Amino acid sequence: MTDDLAFDAAHVWHPYTARFTAAPQHKIVAAKGIWLTLEDGRQMIDAMSSWWCAAFGHAPEPLVRALQAQAATLPHVMFGGLTHRPAIELTRRLVRALPEGLDQVFYSDSGSVAVEVAVKMAVQAQLAQGRRGRTRLATARGGYHGDTWTAMSLCDPEAGMHAHFGSAIAPQHFVARPPVAYGADWPEDDRRNGLAEVEALFERHGAQIAAFILEPIVQGASGMHFHHPAYLRGLRALCDRHDIALIFDEIATGFSRTGSDFALHRAGVVPDILCLGKALTGGMMSLAATVATRDLAGRVGALMHGPTFMANPLACAVAAAAMDLWQGHDWSAEARRIEAQLTQELAPARGFAGVADVRCLGGIGVIEMKAPLPLAPIHRFCAQTGVWLRPFGRVLYAMPPLTIGPDDLSRVTAAMRTIAGGL
Ligand SMILES: *Cc1c(COP(=O)(O)O)cnc(C)c1O
Repeated sequence: MTDDLAFDAAHVWHPYTARFTAAPQHKIVAAKGIWLTLEDGRQMIDAMSSWWCAAFGHAPEPLVRALQAQAATLPHVMFGGLTHRPAIELTRRLVRALPEGLDQVFYSDSGSVAVEVAVKMAVQAQLAQGRRGRTRLATARGGYHGDTWTAMSLCDPEAGMHAHFGSAIAPQHFVARPPVAYGADWPEDDRRNGLAEVEALFERHGAQIAAFILEPIVQGASGMHFHHPAYLRGLRALCDRHDIALIFDEIATGFSRTGSDFALHRAGVVPDILCLGKALTGGMMSLAATVATRDLAGRVGALMHGPTFMANPLACAVAAAAMDLWQGHDWSAEARRIEAQLTQELAPARGFAGVADVRCLGGIGVIEMKAPLPLAPIHRFCAQTGVWLRPFGRVLYAMPPLTIGPDDLSRVTAAMRTIAGGL
């Protein structure tokens, strides 16, 4: 182990990792395109898009140039009472890309905070209308919405962090994970398609519920399940009937990952509030956005939130350049191309003894195992084989940059088959 890795192991805390037992084995010195470079010169394909944010590859030239130019003129200024061109330019691009009506944009530093802000918007709008009891939230099991307190309370109660924090996590209303898979036949019987449970919840507890939050089409970090678009249409109708705000968390699915601009386009449903993050800056800076409809924003009054680094000009300038990159090419077609190849090349894993399921959608390929995967041997194998993968629990998945070519993608699927076969 190098001195740096030993120092890291002794002092640097890494995510979801106990101290002193599971320190990283790899130090990255550069990231460009789909490639991560290790200190010894070896390279790995970043099949995770670095937690799904480097959707257009690492360090695209126009983004690097935008960052350098912005750093030379206005790296930061407070957003209270002041505004600046990068925020305006980014907002222009978002408003143009989003469905009509979703055009009130609030910036924050991370996806989790974007979710907190969405919840604040919904609760404030309800209370401002005199609906005093409506302070709780509803969601489906199988979700992931971030690591801050309210976001955690909305994550899947089993896969999420409820067990580690006990009663410190606010109780919310959960319905079952949307039961009909993407691509399956949609049963009109509401008891079978999951909507009867939502309706029963709203009828019993609607007077306490401010909003329903869901990751549309792809529930990501709590298990990578893909559900039927008709569920979202049914949910929209039920929320309307019960005056419950509908929040879509597209932090993972936005910007072509599922093979359409946003996952909401697959259902033709417009939520009251939309959360964006991750690929928003092409994975270069930490920035997130919570976008509300005009109607909802008008009911909120003064939204009581204001991060110090809100709408940081560096992050906004990079994000505006990322949005130009995104708009300048049919990335959804790239995601669908990746889906076709993932579907074909991961299919053989279905027959492996340890594999429970294989599923692919857009630029997402999943091999769900029957038992949790051990990280340390997988990480050693990753450096040897030149493909970076980091499974969670039983879920081995790839979400490569949408720039990845067929040969490199075949290296990713080969590595996944090897891991799923027991290394
Ligand atoms: C990653 C993610 C978040 C949290 O974003 P952070 O930037 O990590 O705080 C929230 N919701 C979804 C769907 C995510 O994938």
